Amino acid sequence: MIEENQFLGFQLSAQGNKTIPSINPATGGQNEYSFPEATLEELNLAATKAAAAFQQYRNKSGEEKANFLTAIADELINIGDLLIDICTSETALPRTRIEGERVRTVNQLKMFAALVREGSWVDARIETAMPERTPLPKPDLRYMQKAVGPVAVFGASNFPLAFSVAGGDTASALAAGCPVVVKAHSAHPATSAIVASVINKAAMKTNMPDGVFSLLFDSGTSIGIALVKHPAIKAVGFTGSYTGGKALFDAAAKRPEPIPVYAEMGSTNPVFILPQAMKERGEALATGFAGSVTLGVGQFCTNPGLLVYESSENNFEQQLKTEFEKTAGGFMLTAAICKSFKEGVSRYLSTTGVDQLAVSREVNNDNSNYAQPVLFSTSKEVFLNTLQLSNEVFGPTSLAVTVSSKSEMLDIANNLTGHLTATVHGTQDDLIKYKDLLAVLEQKVGRLVINSFPTGVEVCSAMVHGGPFPATTDGRSTSVGTAAIYRFTRPVCYQNMPDQLLPEELQNENKLKLLRLVNGITSSKALTN
Ligand code: NAP
Repeated sequence: MIEENQFLGFQLSAQGNKTIPSINPATGGQNEYSFPEATLEELNLAATKAAAAFQQYRNKSGEEKANFLTAIADELINIGDLLIDICTSETALPRTRIEGERVRTVNQLKMFAALVREGSWVDARIETAMPERTPLPKPDLRYMQKAVGPVAVFGASNFPLAFSVAGGDTASALAAGCPVVVKAHSAHPATSAIVASVINKAAMKTNMPDGVFSLLFDSGTSIGIALVKHPAIKAVGFTGSYTGGKALFDAAAKRPEPIPVYAEMGSTNPVFILPQAMKERGEALATGFAGSVTLGVGQFCTNPGLLVYESSENNFEQQLKTEFEKTAGGFMLTAAICKSFKEGVSRYLSTTGVDQLAVSREVNNDNSNYAQPVLFSTSKEVFLNTLQLSNEVFGPTSLAVTVSSKSEMLDIANNLTGHLTATVHGTQDDLIKYKDLLAVLEQKVGRLVINSFPTGVEVCSAMVHGGPFPATTDGRSTSVGTAAIYRFTRPVCYQNMPDQLLPEELQNENKLKLLRLVNGITSSKALTN
């Protein structure tokens, strides 16, 4: 059964008059479920409950939070095919993709469970007192990361499980000790409701406080903006468009008490092919590039929307054409996303100096949500003089820019704004000769990829899925991997606090056997009293 309600902690509510339908983007038809839009009163209750829950939840041990996260992971599996069926029907994504995404979501939750169960993530630092120090005595100082408070989460349309209700933002906020209020994405409301039920079931099973998790439905901007402005909310996690992320960032900055917004937005993820690599493996690179652009109908934030190379060799351009021609397109996630893809393609087509290099032979005129892969080309001059060509076109398309020298390639790199990734294909000699290109790119992105493709984001402790603005609103963060937890914490220092009143992580005994920095040396030993 799917609850067609708001989830205000453990309480279900349906006060709103307007409803959000569950739509199947492959047919344009409506599924049998619809969800009421949240009222401001319901939003207020969810946020107030989150603030109350924080007072208990912030003190839960790593073990207790790990049990909660693991229970969510288990319930996501226990819910069985219902989740996969509904999610497939709301997104037009292939069943195998959704099954794989559920595994990824479960593994993300378990990764954060393992992190908080082990406990050293709190970054405990201890400087013991030196009362005899002259001219001034040194106090006892103990530092660790603590949860910031309730977090608002806005999921993405393109990862309805892994970047949505129980996705990376929710998992990392709950792991940090923060209650979460999710604004459901209107493109997959029934999927969101199922996952919300799963989270609350896990919360009840593991004795978590009412209000540790809430879900609100809305298809406009009013509830989202009001949520970010609510005084109980202390941080925001967002994945989606530049327009959406920037609007929420601006709203948060204008609050009487501004709060951080970690918005992961658009990126064109430039790919550079260096001369020797082009000579040696041009054809294979063309195949790999076309695959990366068209994977999942191009609906990845790491989709490479810009390709830069000096000259086409080893059958490179011909192979690009061949690959694009044989690639089938597909249904996009929503009618709005497909419309904006088609507008982006029209912009390329109408720009003087931009040519169509290749297009998929597969056409489906019967469905307006169908996107046809297409590749464009232009010169360095046109690219650098036409600002809009730098903007992301979300979908199966890319722009190839030919340059005539290394310095022109550097011009392009120097003019890039912030991106999630940049990729360089080169032989060992190429990479050494172009190390100044690598140095420029490192300053523009969160992840620098060598001799691979940017699509496919490994979830692990060394991942950075972020990057300088406008890829994100805070380039110091990542939304994937264990480091994502630090978006929802702040450091607290205790000066001369009696040992028994310190958090367990900082007490002399070190019962949890954490790795701590004690007087500048890493140690898991206890301190003598
Ligand atoms: P989106 O339109 O930005 O929506 C994301 C979430 O934010 C949704 O819950 C949406 O509400 C809400 N929202 C959007 N604008 C808002 C505003 N001004 N005020 C308050 N809330 C707002 O993103 P999307 O639907 O997932 O995809 C649309 C575009 O985002 C794509 O075309 C693509 O360019 C980009 N995108 C980027 C990534 C990435 O990872 N970087 C991923 C997916 C999409 P509703 O549910 O009511 O719309």
